[in-house]
Amino acid sequence: MVKVLVVGANGQIGKTLVSLIQKSDSLEAKAMIRKQEQASYFEDLGAETVLVDLEDDTKKIAEAAEGMDAIVFAAGSGPKTGPDKTILIDLDGAVKTIEAAKQANVKRFVLISSYDTTREEIQRASSDFAPYVAAKHYADEWLRGTDLDYTIVHPGALTNDKATGKIEAAKKVEAKEVPRDDIAHVLLACLENTSTIGKEFQVIAGDTSVKEAIASLK
Ligand code: NAP
Repeated sequence: MVKVLVVGANGQIGKTLVSLIQKSDSLEAKAMIRKQEQASYFEDLGAETVLVDLEDDTKKIAEAAEGMDAIVFAAGSGPKTGPDKTILIDLDGAVKTIEAAKQANVKRFVLISSYDTTREEIQRASSDFAPYVAAKHYADEWLRGTDLDYTIVHPGALTNDKATGKIEAAKKVEAKEVPRDDIAHVLLACLENTSTIGKEFQVIAGDTSVKEAIASLK
């Protein structure tokens, strides 16, 4: 069994991902959450849980990652907090998790990034959005600079629509929405498909099955 630490497991994508992992024959999830009262959802799925806040030090995250084969970073500070939490979670939380993966010898790392995290997008973004794009830009850069077996997923605008099982994925796709539940399936397909190692791609709603779209990524 491939053991996967899901960071941000209690998030909307994280919860769906843990349930998909638990249904898979080859993977099992450990949910990294920050409150004890969040644990029962994961225990009901038969998944292990570990309590760590991303504002804790790297050592705590590394302890949670010990014995794991893969990490998915699905956490985010969300739109209700300010740029302080964007720096502490979306940037520093991601970097600490990447460093924890190295310390715990976990080679496989799948990162949920944002649709466009280029330098140009930092300059283009509104003053409200720019800190988030900058945080994601540097988290992506940090991961690219490691020798981890990484995949970086750049989703379009997320919706709570039902999963369609169909997406479009490529280095560059037009800006469009995509259901969170389809992104959970994309993350699962990345974990199941070693051909995604070293790749990054944008993903939006589309016409190709998730498995086919992920398997045929260039
Ligand atoms: P979400 O529902 O807001 O989940 C985020 C998770 O991060 C929550 O479980 C939250 O924990 C956790 N978290 C926040 N601060 C934390 C901390 N200090 N320590 C540990 N965990 C912490 O997010 P989502 O909708 O599933 O989206 C996931 C990712 O997609 C985010 O990284 C987001 O930036 C990215 N993204 C979003 C869009 C968009 O259109 N919104 C587009 C592209 C990419 P609690 O449950 O305890 O609060």
